[in-house]
Amino acid sequence: MSHLMNTYGRLPVAFEHGEGVWLFDESGKRYLDALAGIAVSTLGHNHPRLVEAIARQAASVIHTSNLYRIPLQEALGDRLAELAQMEQVFFCNSGCEANEASIKLARLYGHQKGIEQPAIIVMEQSFHGRTLATLSATGNRKVQVGFEPLVSGFVRVPFDDIGAINKVAESNPNVVAVLLEPIQGEGGIHVAHAEYMRSLRDLCTRQGWLMMLDEVQCGVGRTGAWFAHQQLGIRPDVMSLAKGLGSGVPIGACLAAGPAVDVFKPGNHGTTFGGNPLACAAALATLQILEDDDLLAQATKVGDYIRRQFADALSDLEGVRDIRGSGLMIGIELDRPCGELVSRAIAAGLLINVTAERVIRLLPPLVFTEADSDVLVERLVPLIRAHLTA
Ligand SMILES: *Cc1c(COP(=O)(O)O)cnc(C)c1O
Repeated sequence: MSHLMNTYGRLPVAFEHGEGVWLFDESGKRYLDALAGIAVSTLGHNHPRLVEAIARQAASVIHTSNLYRIPLQEALGDRLAELAQMEQVFFCNSGCEANEASIKLARLYGHQKGIEQPAIIVMEQSFHGRTLATLSATGNRKVQVGFEPLVSGFVRVPFDDIGAINKVAESNPNVVAVLLEPIQGEGGIHVAHAEYMRSLRDLCTRQGWLMMLDEVQCGVGRTGAWFAHQQLGIRPDVMSLAKGLGSGVPIGACLAAGPAVDVFKPGNHGTTFGGNPLACAAALATLQILEDDDLLAQATKVGDYIRRQFADALSDLEGVRDIRGSGLMIGIELDRPCGELVSRAIAAGLLINVTAERVIRLLPPLVFTEADSDVLVERLVPLIRAHLTA
């Protein structure tokens, strides 16, 4: 009997080491990693420059706490502010913590404007994390059930529907912010239309609401831009990051611009571990390698290639509803549940994910090449074909 709390139905495989886009189990069998630990292992496994940066920092100092200046945190803040064209950053350890910071910031912003019961608009099918506030913001009952009473102050609307938000604007004077993923990840790789995002940006500006983007999954190069919203020519007021930022060393960030700047004052928010020297060294190395190796352009090119290859190979199958996504954030939606594909892929030496029951989700490391993609297509297509013709 394991002493681990029973929070995951884990697959019966354990990886001993990794090399680039490959993971190796205890028997030496190798698996093509098309999931990257859920969009986390940006640089693949055992990247020599990343390993070197982490090892060097570990041998110097790992943690000092936010009671003191942390030059690497300041450097990472400068770098992210420059890349995102935003002004301030709060560092934490995970995606839900980054969203907790966004939610607290929005509420404080509301109170500072004299709104005593601030409300935040959130989306159906969204995912923002598993803490009480973020599961309350999440648009999936399965995540919430059993944990009531939920945190109040969220107003839910359908995703990608500006009319629904306009209606809330007319009827609810307590709204202070809108929180959404520009591309819903757990919800099934749903990409918001550019027109919707731009209208929402305008509406937020007109209403004095904070536009808060959860880029925990789609940010840090995954879509071929540093941040997904940059492809739409807009800038949010608040943005949360985590997953891919430290290539596997836990780090999250909440960025602020415009009206969200200087909302937090000393004593309003904090963290013991957040932004420690080790995590910041990993994130700085990740960003540097993404830039030096031109991996954003590669994500665009390889992502397009993967979608094209699957579209060609699956074109005769009616059960394939849609192949969509942006860069290396890819969803293949089938007309039926397909959770079994995950373990069949493992048997075939391939790591994938299924989300929203019928969407095959691919989130490969950003070092993925066209040759790796050919292996992915070669291994996955027969499984999809067998599943749909069974
Ligand atoms: C994974 C995810 C989170 C939660 O991140 P954790 O690090 O697991 O807390 C929040 N938002 C989005 C969009 C995510 O994909």
